[in-house]
Amino acid sequence: MIVLKTARELQIMKEACRISANALKIAGEAVQPGVSTLEIDTIVRKYIEKQGAAPSFLGYGGFPNSACISVNNVVIHGIPSKKQILKEGDIVSIDVGAFYEGFHGDNAYTFACGSISREAQQLLDATKESLYEGIKQAIAGNRIGDIGSAVQRYVEERSYSVVRDFVGHGVGAKLHEEPSVPNFGTPGRGPRLIPGMTIAIEPMINQGKHYVRVLDDEWTTVTVDGSLSAHFEHTVAITPDGPKILTVAD
Ligand code: MG
Repeated sequence: MIVLKTARELQIMKEACRISANALKIAGEAVQPGVSTLEIDTIVRKYIEKQGAAPSFLGYGGFPNSACISVNNVVIHGIPSKKQILKEGDIVSIDVGAFYEGFHGDNAYTFACGSISREAQQLLDATKESLYEGIKQAIAGNRIGDIGSAVQRYVEERSYSVVRDFVGHGVGAKLHEEPSVPNFGTPGRGPRLIPGMTIAIEPMINQGKHYVRVLDDEWTTVTVDGSLSAHFEHTVAITPDGPKILTVAD
């Protein structure tokens, strides 16, 4: 069932999303060589809690931390660790959610640690741009497939691949709601978009092939071929006036 949000609920969600976006921004500012991923996680948790919100991911399905921090060939769901020290040239995907007054906000961004290779920068640029290509299609009357096909076309034209095993999702009172929002698909297919829907659009894009596997910790998801992977995400509301990005930082 797709849950539509009232205008009042959207106002609250906007605040949850603002907290998520600020947490992500602060996390990104902490990305630098020599910093552990656990230090970044702590910064995220403290910020979110200080806002009177709760980290959406902490304890979700047993996830042990507040942020997913996924470095280089890790696609998503990297578990922060004091043993993982960032180094110059890493690409660092950080996914952060905040739960505030009954609603979640969810967003992700892949940051460069120091100076990164040209190839890595191109992957980041293409993945970020593909998110906005998807958001442009998040228009009332369109269908979910319009979003995924726009993302897929943009990245495949650049010889990257779209992860199939994980997808975006509705978001609201629950972190993961219907519908699924794949980053691939066929225009004109899938559930129709209507005002009041709130969805997390989150392309996960690999430099090599699209295949991924989950490590023995049951979270860390890596590319099978070891290639780099990037991840950008916004929570977006479908409105009569077009797509509205809710995860906007101050
Ligand atoms: Mg998400």
